[in-house]
Amino acid sequence: MNIVLMGLPGAGKGTQADRIVEKYDIPHISTGDMFRAAIKGGTKLGLEAKSFMDKGALVPDEVTIGIVRERLSAADCEEGFLLDGFPRTVPQAEALESLLADLGKRIEHVVNIQVEQDELVKRLTGRRICKVCGTAYHLVFNPPQKDGVCDKDGGELYQREDDNPETVTNRLEVNIKQTQPLLDFYENKGVLKNINGQQDIQKVFADIDALLKGDRG
Ligand code: AMP
Repeated sequence: MNIVLMGLPGAGKGTQADRIVEKYDIPHISTGDMFRAAIKGGTKLGLEAKSFMDKGALVPDEVTIGIVRERLSAADCEEGFLLDGFPRTVPQAEALESLLADLGKRIEHVVNIQVEQDELVKRLTGRRICKVCGTAYHLVFNPPQKDGVCDKDGGELYQREDDNPETVTNRLEVNIKQTQPLLDFYENKGVLKNINGQQDIQKVFADIDALLKGDRG
C-alpha cells in the first residue's frame, strides 16, 4: 500500500498517520521528521536543511527528493509506505512518480483530510502544550482536568508562538496556496481521495480505512 497523506495544519494528519501505519504495518516517512533528526544528529544534511527550516522556507527540491529516493529504496518499503509532508510541490510530485517508476512502484492513494479553515483556526488557537512533556491539549475539545496544568506531570501549559490567531490564519493561507497545485495534480491523475476530517477521530480513521481497503472510492 503506497500512500501519500495530505492535510492542512490542524486537520489531524499526525493522529491519522499513526493509526494508518500501525494498522497496515508500513513505515511512516515524514520529511520534516527526517530533517529534524538530521539536525539533531549534526549531519551535513541537517546543516543544509536547518538554514531553510529556520526561515520557515522549503528545503530545496534537489535535497528533499534525494533523501526520499534513498528512503523509499530501503527494504522496509517493499510492502508499502506512508508519505507525510512530501510531496509539497508539483516538481516533487513529478520526481516521486519517476523515482517510483524506476522501482516498479506507484502511488495508489492520495488521502487528503479536509477541514474548513474556520475550524482549523479554532483547533490551532485552542491548542495548549505542556512545558515539561510536550503533551497537547485543547481548551475546548480536549481540556486538562485543571486549567493550565498538565494531567500527566503537573507541568505548566503554554501556547506555541505560531498558534496565535494572526499567525495561524497566515500560516493556513500560505499552506493553502502551496497545496492547491498539488491537489490539482493528483485530482487530474484520478488518485485524490478527500476525507471529511470534521468528524470524530475514530470515524475519520474508519473512512480512511474503508478507502484503503477498497470499500469506496
Ligand atoms: P513539517 O514537519 O512537515 O512541517 O516540516 C518542517 C520543515 O521541514 C518545513 O517547514 C520545511 O522547511 C522542511 N520540509 C519538510 N518536508 C519538506 C518537503 N517535502 N520539501 C521541502 N521542505 C520540506
